[in-house]
Amino acid sequence: MITRLSHLFLRTLRDDPADAEVASHKLLVRAGYVRRIAPGVYSWLPLGLRVLREVERVVREEMDAMGAQEILLPALLPREPYETSNRWTEYGAGLFRLKDRKGNDYMLGPTHEELFALTVKGEYNSYKDFPVTLYQVQTKYRDEERPRAGILRGREFVMKDSYSFDLTDEGLTASYQAHRDTYERILARLGVKYVIVSATSGAMGGSASEEFLAESAIGEDTYVRCLESGYAANVEAVKTLAPEAIPFDGLPDAKVYDTPGTETIDTLVEWANGADLGKTVTAADTLKNIMVKTRVPGGEWELLAIGIPGDREVDEKRLEASLEPAEYVLITETDFKNNPFLVKGYIGPKALQENGIRYLVDPRVVDGTSWITGADEEGKHVVGLVAGRDFTPDGTIEAAEVRDGDPSPDGAGPLVAARGIEVGHVFQLGRKYTDVFSVDVLGENGKPVRPTMGSYGIGVSRLVAVIAEQMHDEKGLRWPAEVSPANVHLVIANKDDAAREGAEGLAAELDGAGLSVILDDRKASPGVKFKDSELLGIPLVVVVGRGWADGKVELRDRFTGESREVDAGGALAEILAAVRG
Ligand code: ATP
Ligand code: MG
Repeated sequence: MITRLSHLFLRTLRDDPADAEVASHKLLVRAGYVRRIAPGVYSWLPLGLRVLREVERVVREEMDAMGAQEILLPALLPREPYETSNRWTEYGAGLFRLKDRKGNDYMLGPTHEELFALTVKGEYNSYKDFPVTLYQVQTKYRDEERPRAGILRGREFVMKDSYSFDLTDEGLTASYQAHRDTYERILARLGVKYVIVSATSGAMGGSASEEFLAESAIGEDTYVRCLESGYAANVEAVKTLAPEAIPFDGLPDAKVYDTPGTETIDTLVEWANGADLGKTVTAADTLKNIMVKTRVPGGEWELLAIGIPGDREVDEKRLEASLEPAEYVLITETDFKNNPFLVKGYIGPKALQENGIRYLVDPRVVDGTSWITGADEEGKHVVGLVAGRDFTPDGTIEAAEVRDGDPSPDGAGPLVAARGIEVGHVFQLGRKYTDVFSVDVLGENGKPVRPTMGSYGIGVSRLVAVIAEQMHDEKGLRWPAEVSPANVHLVIANKDDAAREGAEGLAAELDGAGLSVILDDRKASPGVKFKDSELLGIPLVVVVGRGWADGKVELRDRFTGESREVDAGGALAEILAAVRG
């Protein structure tokens, strides 16, 4: 196919769009691949659509190769199945809801576990039909709180989601492994650099779950790795290595001190080190109590106190993941007024427990650890308050930040942190949805059996942004051959009729050999054309320029920046060799 730039529906922009912060977003807009319609909602223009379709093709080829079967469910869904699974409520503000003309509730599908379970229930009824894996490549809708970076986090986006149905746990393990292998193949073909990390299960409930994170400093996911053991996890999934409990014998009694003006951890530590407590105190010796309100879907707001060592901040994502599906907010001045036992800056376990407030602590707060914490009176703290002796929390919570250098949960060494973009997610769901919809089939022994499910997602449109993000350079986009919108970008950089005809002829030959060619036949200066070729990012740029008169054509590698001259007569063979690697 020959695509003429004189004709292509394409306008490249010289300036970055005002709302763009990350490179992939800026470049995809400047290069005319996508256009913004609303926050998190984008149109695909010709070249962008080609890349999207190429990613889809790779995903489909690998899914088909693993034996999964493609179907397509609607994006417009009735409320009932999601009501049955309680996700109509659990999904909260993230769900796009609408009504039809009769007033019936509908939604735009954010993910399709319910519908796949019902679809299998509708068609299959015997153990002989299993295992089966179904997938779709489909537009998903999520009213993301913070749509970001163009198509990277959209409110409308394309996902490949698949669902495996097995009769045994071993079967599910095998289906899960097959997906994991397939995802590795897909990302290898796309040239994406990634890590596989353990993940929390999130709103879906279930057991084994891993995420594929593309390595990127602009990623919203933080993951940690232990280089000694190979342990790798999303920080949301990190379980704190709790120390051993300490015997109470010999621990001094707790004592309340006047500590005026010590509402912050810094001022408290400063006070403690001037108070002759017999040891040097650091922020890690203090216990700060953070008040939030939580609400389970459809329930009432409830106060919750979270106690974490004073040297750590709360990590909002970890807290969110720990509380899911409940949501949380920080408490307000009004809440303080309504609960006078909460003394701002001096909240302690005593008042919390006396007033029946649920109190969860960091796993480091084990029995026998001794803390400096609030004494529930303005200007007072208590020193030597011992967990398990002087207060008994209602449980532990993973809410504190994970830091570089923290011990790995497997005890093998320190953790190293980095950032990534989630591109895929594999998940052993179990029988959650087959239970909800009583999906039973006839077993071998004549008794009913309930299939167990896996659910697996790949962000197809997000991958376009991820590839752009990982591959670009300061001049523009750079597409790996597998997803490039064309094989060759042929620039006519010579006004001479003979050169123009020669370029047309070469383009026709390349087309004839099965390559797709972008032909820059515009009446523009060579400088403008070269800049656009760099911006558009086709991996091989061929220039018919001044050298044509001497029978020469220039080949430029967009990745290495290298260029070389070849004989016009041998150009076709050279280009074919370069493209086919
Ligand atoms: P995230 O943590 O980034 O919000 P998620 O965990 O909600 O993602 P899943 O429900 O696991 O996402 O969806 C499967 C895949 O779909 C993700 O791995 C990601 O690649 C893609 N995806 C999810 N949300 C979006 C979005 N808003 N825009 C583009 N792709 C998305
Ligand atoms: Mg996920």
